Amino acid sequence: MSMTGSVGGTDRRGVRELGAEEKVGWDAVPQGVVLTSFDGTSENSALIKPEDRVYSDFNSYTATVASWRIIKPVYNRDICIDCQNCWVWCPDTSIISRDKQMLGIDYDHCKGCGVCVEVCPTNPKSLLMFGENMDNDEALAAWPEKKKKAK
Ligand code: SF4
Ligand code: SF4
Repeated sequence: MSMTGSVGGTDRRGVRELGAEEKVGWDAVPQGVVLTSFDGTSENSALIKPEDRVYSDFNSYTATVASWRIIKPVYNRDICIDCQNCWVWCPDTSIISRDKQMLGIDYDHCKGCGVCVEVCPTNPKSLLMFGENMDNDEALAAWPEKKKKAK
């Protein structure tokens, strides 16, 4: 399980692998059943940080889709200006940001679409896509230099 920065998440983040053998089709769910997102009360859950919420097994937070990915974004803290563009645009809420500071990638839920890299405005970019098997430290060591503006 991948955790990033100081936001470790709960033990329940990404505990289940959403492989084909584990999928439960909607035809297996009885009509009228309520699939709750939280164990216990959901009161004020919008005001609680994700890592502090008690998600149920029916919530996607407890499932990981990491194996769907063949390329991954790697984050370079040294260049990031905390503009939050990646956080706004990520279609899977897989950018971890707290108090307007970018902390990294939630690799349990990121699907490797590359949108965060596209919208990153720094030079060079603070997020780049690498092969899934690339070690993050190696990726950081291979980071490109700043591009000079054409005259
Ligand atoms: S690659 Fe796609 S899913 Fe993953 S963090 Fe970037 S925008 Fe989100
Ligand atoms: S878009 Fe780039 S510069 Fe902006 S917060 Fe994300 S990684 Fe940092």
